[in-house]
Amino acid sequence: MPAFQSELRHGPFYYAKQPALTTDPVDVVPQDGRNDFYCWLCHREGQVLCCELCPRVYHAKCLKLPAEPEGDWFCPECEKITVAECIETQSKAMMMLTTDQLSYLLKFALQKMKQPGDHPRLSSRSPHAASSQRKTFNWTEPFQKPVSLEQHPDYAEYIFHPMDLCTLEKNIKKKMYGCTEAFLADVKWILHNCIIYNGGML
Ligand SMILES: [Zn+2]
Ligand SMILES: [Zn+2]
Repeated sequence: MPAFQSELRHGPFYYAKQPALTTDPVDVVPQDGRNDFYCWLCHREGQVLCCELCPRVYHAKCLKLPAEPEGDWFCPECEKITVAECIETQSKAMMMLTTDQLSYLLKFALQKMKQPGDHPRLSSRSPHAASSQRKTFNWTEPFQKPVSLEQHPDYAEYIFHPMDLCTLEKNIKKKMYGCTEAFLADVKWILHNCIIYNGGML
């Protein structure tokens, strides 16, 4: 089997460079079922801090915290969203937008994200980039729809909060995002999940 194919065995995504995990999921420190297993910043398991508002978890060292916080703790993503949505702290731009207008703008942003772009490794200057290949291959394809649990039955063992472009679109339609930060925080699950399941980086 060519090396390229064997690198794909862990998932539907492209350019996985190494097996996803060094530790079997049963060895991971168990959480209370409300939180992810893997640090939002380094995407690895271990002793983590759990956010009270969302499923994200973090290593204290990745947050560069001098000591573990006591009591309820809210993660940096939730903090950003709270600041962006709170009437006293929100930006002037957000203040001027209604939820309908924000959803309308987010729809445009998502459309852009769904469009196939040149893969960074095959930029137009790359001698390996056949122009026909760039035009026909959609690099966003693996992220368009939820990962099939039929094709990847172990996906749910690793991925706590699946995310894809189609789900983002549905959430925008449901007007679930009260600020751009909330939308971006959801977008980042795609990358987080991709790294956990496939390992390595694009
Ligand atoms: Zn970490
Ligand atoms: Zn949080």
